[in-house]
Amino acid sequence: MNPAAARRERILQEAVRQGLLDPERALLAAFVDLDGVEVTVGDLRDSFPGPPELPGVLHTFAAKANCLVPVLAELAGLGMGCEVATAGELARALAAGFPAERIVFDAPAKTRAELERALALGVSVNADSFQELERIAQTLAHRPSASRIGVRLNCQVGGGAIAAMSTATSTSKFGVPLGDPGNRERLLRAFAEHPWLTRVHTHTGSQGCPLDLMARGVAQAVEFADEVVAAFGPGRVAGIDIGGGLPVNFADDAFTPTFAEYAGQLRAHAPGLFSGRYEVVTEFGRSLLAKNGFMAAYVEYTKTAGGRPIAVTHAGVQVATRTVFGPDAWPLRIEAHAGDGTARTGRAVRQDVAGPACFAGDLLARDRALPLLHPGDLVVVPDTGAYYFSTPFHYNSLPEPAVHGVRVLADGRVDFSLVRPAQDPWLLSERDGVRVRPRESAGAAARGVG
Ligand SMILES: *Cc1c(COP(=O)(O)O)cnc(C)c1O
Repeated sequence: MNPAAARRERILQEAVRQGLLDPERALLAAFVDLDGVEVTVGDLRDSFPGPPELPGVLHTFAAKANCLVPVLAELAGLGMGCEVATAGELARALAAGFPAERIVFDAPAKTRAELERALALGVSVNADSFQELERIAQTLAHRPSASRIGVRLNCQVGGGAIAAMSTATSTSKFGVPLGDPGNRERLLRAFAEHPWLTRVHTHTGSQGCPLDLMARGVAQAVEFADEVVAAFGPGRVAGIDIGGGLPVNFADDAFTPTFAEYAGQLRAHAPGLFSGRYEVVTEFGRSLLAKNGFMAAYVEYTKTAGGRPIAVTHAGVQVATRTVFGPDAWPLRIEAHAGDGTARTGRAVRQDVAGPACFAGDLLARDRALPLLHPGDLVVVPDTGAYYFSTPFHYNSLPEPAVHGVRVLADGRVDFSLVRPAQDPWLLSERDGVRVRPRESAGAAARGVG
């Protein structure tokens, strides 16, 4: 067994022993490997040079990849910044303790009120469009701000393997399309008119994009920044935000591609990024958390249908939404364990691994070769630390599972900390309209909600 799988087994056995997984009371649970997060953040830091090549680097974590506040707080404690894309994510970043100057607010649909709040707080803002730049100008006209302000470019270098994850096609919804007629000139005019506009932003991702495509996107942004500097003088662009988007290997336990490989591609395709002229901001999400989290769920029943074995588990669409709806784009590994957490090693048998939801497509894996699962076994779903259990889907009123932070101490002890308690299905029904008190519904009506 490789070290990562052995570590999961050790954590799982201990989780069962401590009752964090229980065939009656805790059917599904998720784990964030906090030691792993620390190592991955260290790898990211080590991959980018310091001065003189980069006068400053701010590595932010894209909150949407895992917005659980204790996880964000862990990252804040490691010195990371935070990239947020909604008011809700901004609230979580602030609650997690990120200082305003380490928060970057990106979103394609920021309201006036959200912009005013962000500028008052001093968080960095990347405008997504010319219209948003005008709104920012209006806000700054009556109240100056400490915020660093940039404009997002769509470098239009093309898409990757997953259409819904491709942000740099010619018609992508994000940013100002750099190659569309007149836009370069209009962008240069914006820099001429707005002295507060000092950053250039791009994000060419995400999962499914080759590294050289991402690096060529950044190269376009650097080229544009160079043009601004050539026109208006050194320092006119203070920083380049290169976004995130490093793809994750979902096939095995190797952390590939690495941040160092990506930095190498950036050196090859966008050497100007390391010219010493620009500070750099990064916004990685999936690559920091995906491989540092896993889920485990009990098998409730097994059966065969049309000759194929099916294991019905408690993990499905509510925690693996992308995989269930897009199984070809988002395959996940499954590992078979006995009920005490020990990995099963029997002969592999092709079987379906199903979730608990009431639709036929609720499958974590189809026709997957695994040791034959039995009722009371555990299935482990690795690589789910980003965009899986942290962003559950509320179909069928399935509750959100508990999430536990975990560290393995030097003496081998496994130390769990509660990140998020399991949702109580009764509280869920309250959220969904049961026992709404008249005063609350009047307030909601006044705000135009419901
Ligand atoms: C989603 C997103 C990220 C993070 O992408 P990952 O693929 O998770 O690294 C970074 N920046 C922006 C603007 C995003 O929308």
